Amino acid sequence: MADYDLIIIGSGPAGMTAAIYAVRANLSVLMLDRLAPGGKIINTNEIQNYPGVGTLSGAELAIQMFQHTQQLNVPFDYKTVKAVRIEDGLKYVCCEEDDTVYTAHAVLLCTGTSSRMLGVANEELYIGNGISFCAICDGPACKDKDVVVLGGGNSAVEEAIYLAEVAKTVTVAVRSYLKADPVACDRLRSMKNVVIYEGYDVLDFYGNGRLHGVHLKSKETGAELSVDCAQVFEYIGQLPATECFDALGVLNTAGYVEVDDRMATRVPGIYGAGDCVVKNLRQVITACADGAIAAQEASRYVQSLR
Ligand SMILES: Cc1cc2nc3c(=O)[nH]c(=O)nc-3n(C[C@H](O)[C@H](O)[C@H](O)COP(=O)(O)OP(=O)(O)OC[C@H]3O[C@@H](n4cnc5c(N)ncnc54)[C@H](O)[C@@H]3O)c2cc1C
Repeated sequence: MADYDLIIIGSGPAGMTAAIYAVRANLSVLMLDRLAPGGKIINTNEIQNYPGVGTLSGAELAIQMFQHTQQLNVPFDYKTVKAVRIEDGLKYVCCEEDDTVYTAHAVLLCTGTSSRMLGVANEELYIGNGISFCAICDGPACKDKDVVVLGGGNSAVEEAIYLAEVAKTVTVAVRSYLKADPVACDRLRSMKNVVIYEGYDVLDFYGNGRLHGVHLKSKETGAELSVDCAQVFEYIGQLPATECFDALGVLNTAGYVEVDDRMATRVPGIYGAGDCVVKNLRQVITACADGAIAAQEASRYVQSLR
């Protein structure tokens, strides 16, 4: 006898959408997250590409999604999952807190991704003390200060635009070139307090107990330069947050969950959705779509056991 039909690990857009679909399919559901429900969008300044909502702060969208799950009475528990194991088809979801274990017929893995780090000298020393991965969290403290954004993808460019409206200057440094949406890149390039260095590696960070700046090196000329700043924001990519699922045998060599077009893994009753699965476009709308498909498939699986 399982505690739940379906346990959803991760309450970002993928997990919350799955919860809505699963409850409406009459499954008993538990949603777990190590942090506040909402996932990465809680710390996203603006969402401008989710149909029907226009421009909305990420936190507002997260709250609306969570409220939707609560109108449907989806149970939510603050838990960090450390492993999922299977015995006789029953899934055991093992949590760090008090070694709690929940059982379920089906489990949905939707733990998203976490920020990639550069791995250069002094990076670890200044994390939380001058190096941040969240403009919305630490940007407001940079009013009238010089900041640096590292990276050139959508996240880096969108957050640099936000920071340029708060900080005195924003220096953007990227290994290759800006690869974000052309509209966002044009807007960033047009901002008067923004300097962009394309084709630059980060050598290391410097400071004196607190971060004072970053050393860059041109890949083309080899020229080195120091950029003084109060804060660095790193947006150099993401890594799957899936270590706790290693033993399940559902991850590819890069750590992403391998699923078919119904979001099913090769293990019966284990599904994946959102940023943590192998896919091309990691966005709110694709995470929600994955969650809906996974919940429907989990519902079919649970019905087949009855
Ligand atoms: C800076 C930035 C800006 C972005 N801007 C946009 C945008 O404008 N538009 C857009 O569509 N997308 C945007 N995205 C992408 C979007 O945020 C993601 O695609 C979306 O959040 C993915 O949802 P998810 O549910 O798969 O994962 P996530 O939102 O990452 O949620 C995963 C959840 O799992 C939890 N979790 C992880 N490990 C465990 C564990 N072991 N135990 C329990 N819980 C765990 C985490 O705490 C988290 O709450 C942006 C991303 C970033 C980083």
